[in-house]
Amino acid sequence: MKEKIFSGIQPTGVIHIGNYLGAIKNWVSLLDEYDCKFCIVDYHAITVMYPPDEMSERTAEAVRTLIVAGLDPEKCTLFIQSHVPEHTELAWILNTITPITDLERMTQYKDKRQQNMDNINTGLLTYPLLMASDIILYKSHVVPVGEDQVQHLELTREIARRFNARFGHTFPEPRALLSEAPRIRGLDGGAKMSKSLNNYIALIEDENTLWEKLRTAMTDPARKRRADPGNPWICNVFTLHRYFSSQEEVDYVEKECKTAGIGCIECKKILFKNMNEFMKPLREKKRALDEDPDYVKGVLHAGKTLCSREARETMSEVRQKLGLIS
Ligand code: SF4
Repeated sequence: MKEKIFSGIQPTGVIHIGNYLGAIKNWVSLLDEYDCKFCIVDYHAITVMYPPDEMSERTAEAVRTLIVAGLDPEKCTLFIQSHVPEHTELAWILNTITPITDLERMTQYKDKRQQNMDNINTGLLTYPLLMASDIILYKSHVVPVGEDQVQHLELTREIARRFNARFGHTFPEPRALLSEAPRIRGLDGGAKMSKSLNNYIALIEDENTLWEKLRTAMTDPARKRRADPGNPWICNVFTLHRYFSSQEEVDYVEKECKTAGIGCIECKKILFKNMNEFMKPLREKKRALDEDPDYVKGVLHAGKTLCSREARETMSEVRQKLGLIS
């Protein structure tokens, strides 16, 4: 029996290079070793203001892009969180065994409060309970996470322990699988590449847009003139080279940047060539998927069927342990 993995991604409208290098590429590498479920967490996405008329297309787009990125539906389960209502049912139960102070100390909650001053809704606070529910509903063993999610996973482990101690052993304590994922900064030099900050390169861009985004991307500010030497290690363009260019090219860029042997535009042209090559087959695959909506519907239906069966089993056990009448 393979160990079970669960992870989720929000349908923000676009999956960008930061999402790919930071999470999805790692997920693809886990497909053969684990029994994997990947979820589009649409209930998480509604904790901030969003355009409802775009939600269904954003969700479908996320599924198509994940498939194109390498999450082969033959090797993993892809599904949508709101298709399996047991996620929110279990989250309610977890509400009743979690002290409010555990939620108030979450760093991400504090950050989100700051970012959403006009919409500090209860969902922002209880978000980690829905996330815990997503994970333990399927009795997952392993959760691939980035540094920023470690605190939430620690809380999930505590919640599973607390439930088991009070009602009898039910859930494994999921462990974190920390990936050595890079943090890709935004094209504007901001701390993080993000859709909402509009400083991203989508996983699938057309050629012209890709070049335009690279051409105008922030580099080492010390390179004001062509003759100024730079430090590639503080340049986001160089970070991207390390994931899309050959070792020979990376070494070349590093050396020539430090000695002002090449200019930033020349450097970006090498990166553009390599990223464009990487994107070519993805564009093809995406075009084919866009033209075959029934295939995506079939993938989601299969995911919903499998996850609903497992979720019903878990919830039946949970209700019995809680002493609820069946
Ligand atoms: S030459 Fe390349 S690595 Fe160096 S600062 Fe310019 S874009 Fe960045």
